[in-house]
Amino acid sequence: MLEIESLTTRYGSIAALRDATLRIEAGEIVGVIGPNGAGKTTLLNSIAGLLSPAGGRVRLDGSDVTGAAPDKMLRAGVALVPEHRRLFADLTVRENLLVAGVTATARQRAERLEEMAELFPVLGDRRDTPAGYLSGGEAQQLAIARALMSAPRILLMDEPSLGLAPTLVDLVFSLIGRLAAGGRTLLVVEQNAHRMLDACDRAYIMRTGEIATEGSGQDLLQRTDLFDTYLGPSDPDRPGTSG
Ligand code: ATP
Repeated sequence: MLEIESLTTRYGSIAALRDATLRIEAGEIVGVIGPNGAGKTTLLNSIAGLLSPAGGRVRLDGSDVTGAAPDKMLRAGVALVPEHRRLFADLTVRENLLVAGVTATARQRAERLEEMAELFPVLGDRRDTPAGYLSGGEAQQLAIARALMSAPRILLMDEPSLGLAPTLVDLVFSLIGRLAAGGRTLLVVEQNAHRMLDACDRAYIMRTGEIATEGSGQDLLQRTDLFDTYLGPSDPDRPGTSG
């Protein structure tokens, strides 16, 4: 349903993403892993419309959506949970969610607020708390809930477990599983390579702006050579490594 073909994105003269080709089928969980600076965020932002690619194509259900603005992508059913969450710190949990639901009718927004309170009970409890007062785990749940307010078919998630305590990392991965079980398609960028490979159907490994390799999560998990070559120093699950 989402096809990315030879996508290239530049910051000035630097091509941070080069010739990336990926395919995401409906209902899949697809991981994108790789070390710092590999171009993972650039890839997601180029799909979501936050960056304009210099070359290549993004197709959604066969339609060319390359370079479409973020609001157009949202209306087409593609929502981004950005790196560092980017919440409105002064607005309450409820207000953050309502702002995100602008593409919906008032009735849909009210229904989705209820759904979010069920999916994320802590957000229901803290609905009148300004987002700036939330803990890291609560803020990450709000960032995910905010993206879900537009009822996307495809969720792009950028480092959802970054900086979270181990129990909250578990919560994020269980949410990823639940969202996929509920019919959503997920493209998830993660530095936590072992956890992501274990949770996904397929994954792409990026290195220095390019897709280095791809495969099923379970097959890639067995490839210790890949961990040594691409992921070792920055893989938090590997004892004795740093990063
Ligand atoms: P990380 O996990 O550290 O966020 P990443 O794989 O998501 O890494 P990107 O953030 O996409 O990588 O960055 C890819 C490359 O582009 C890096 O070399 C980075 O320094 C560079 N880069 C990112 N954003 C900009 C920018 N706004 N201007 C110039 N260079 C940038």
